[in-house]
Amino acid sequence: MQTQPKASHFIDGAYVEDTSGTPIDVIYPATGETIATVYAATPAIVDQAITAARKAQGAWAAMTGTERGRILRRAADIMRERNHDLSVLETYDTGKPYQETSVADATSGADALEYFGGIAASLTGEHIQLGEDWVYTRREPLGVCVGIGAWNYPTQIACWKGAPALACGNAIIFKPSETTPLCALKVAEILHEAGLPAGLYNVVQGMGEVGASLVTDPRIDKVSLTGSVPTGRKVYAAAAEGIKHVTMELGGKSPMIVFEDADIENAISGAILGNFYSSGQVCSNGTRVFVHRDIKEVFLKRLAERLENAVIGDPMDPETSFGPMVSKRQMDIALGYIEKGKAEGARLVFGGNAIDGAGFYMQPTVFADVTDDMTIAREEIFGPVMSVLDFEDEDDVMTRANDTEFGLSAGVFTRDLTRAHRVAAKFEAGTCYINTYNDAPVEAPFGGMKNSGVGRENSKAAIEHYSQLKSVYVRMGDLEAPF
Ligand code: NDP
Repeated sequence: MQTQPKASHFIDGAYVEDTSGTPIDVIYPATGETIATVYAATPAIVDQAITAARKAQGAWAAMTGTERGRILRRAADIMRERNHDLSVLETYDTGKPYQETSVADATSGADALEYFGGIAASLTGEHIQLGEDWVYTRREPLGVCVGIGAWNYPTQIACWKGAPALACGNAIIFKPSETTPLCALKVAEILHEAGLPAGLYNVVQGMGEVGASLVTDPRIDKVSLTGSVPTGRKVYAAAAEGIKHVTMELGGKSPMIVFEDADIENAISGAILGNFYSSGQVCSNGTRVFVHRDIKEVFLKRLAERLENAVIGDPMDPETSFGPMVSKRQMDIALGYIEKGKAEGARLVFGGNAIDGAGFYMQPTVFADVTDDMTIAREEIFGPVMSVLDFEDEDDVMTRANDTEFGLSAGVFTRDLTRAHRVAAKFEAGTCYINTYNDAPVEAPFGGMKNSGVGRENSKAAIEHYSQLKSVYVRMGDLEAPF
């Protein structure tokens, strides 16, 4: 497959190159080979993108929602038709196994385009009668939005931000992570093939400083970031300077509670999905697995047996179920946490090592006897490292589960119906799961509480974050004034 894109950036409906920017090598995580090179956006490229977006946005907003939605839905169809090629590219960009990318990336992006394409025609304001007078509200776009992505789901993030922004009549400039710059370019290409007018979906490459220059530009109205909490703090503060709208999808250290009455095999499936999918590089992962003391040893034994069945290898092989880490840097971070886990007295029950050979492979890793104060139980690792903690009492485990700066997701496994809902109500987290983990359908709001973020992606809730209301007061009679 051709992995070198036609050019680094996509601006005003066309590929644009400017080799005077800093070169960024794209590394295939399975082999460590360079598969493409793009160039970071120079200030001139950033300016070109913002100028194009501003110029195009007004006419797009003036179209009917039905017309805008039709283009998004057409793009969704094209994405589905090209799912194989897009999935292969996603695997090259991220190293995630094709077994995953073929069902979770372009498909999820297409869902977002289809959902927001469908909703575009029904976006309305309201009528508020006030005696003979009335107020009507107009739902208006924000203007030009900036999307900044993390590297774990490059296609999905490009669509989760682009689809609601465009449905509401905005233009968007998307900056992918420098680690995974390829996929968003394909999203831009497809949108334009589907009929999106030039200038409305632009992609510019670059490191953090390119993101920062977009965020601080006065011509930008909204910033949506998917990234870590430290980056979120910087971007939020920079956006605050210009009183810009923000959506912050940040990190997590989510709890998963397995009660003694849970279906153990289902709970282990949840723990596997919530720790080892995408080699653990998922923001909502349930990395603190609280297991009731009565079932802990059975849980650990069966978990270890099932982890032996992980197929680690060539991500393009459809049989492979566990791929490499996205980069050597990210692998070294995860391995560093494993050393901390051992040093602080956690019991290593599975994995724990890098895998020799080419590429950035490490074993899925499980620690037991983890306590709340250990570094591996407090900090986001963003790698395949599960911490199993013991508990006996529901009230106690709820307090411990919520004792974190993060609040992205949380899960509970139990057969007790009332307990499941009681626990879900007490979780301090934006997305909670009962007897499942990490499902993220476009119909449901997704986002964090506490330091895990502000705003919501997906669902009708996202509309509130990509549009604003204008109230228009209409007086029917004469207007009285004091003089
Ligand atoms: P980072 O926070 O390092 O980077 C996120 C993006 O922000 C990248 O595109 C990065 O550019 C850019 N960036 C960095 N500094 C700035 C700045 N000062 N101004 C503007 N943009 C900037 O996150 P990672 O890419 O390492 O992704 C992992 C993190 O993302 C984890 O914490 C994870 O939990 C979180 N995440 C959250 C999700 C959610 O929906 N809540 C989903 C997926 C991941 P570059 O990297 O090119 O320098």
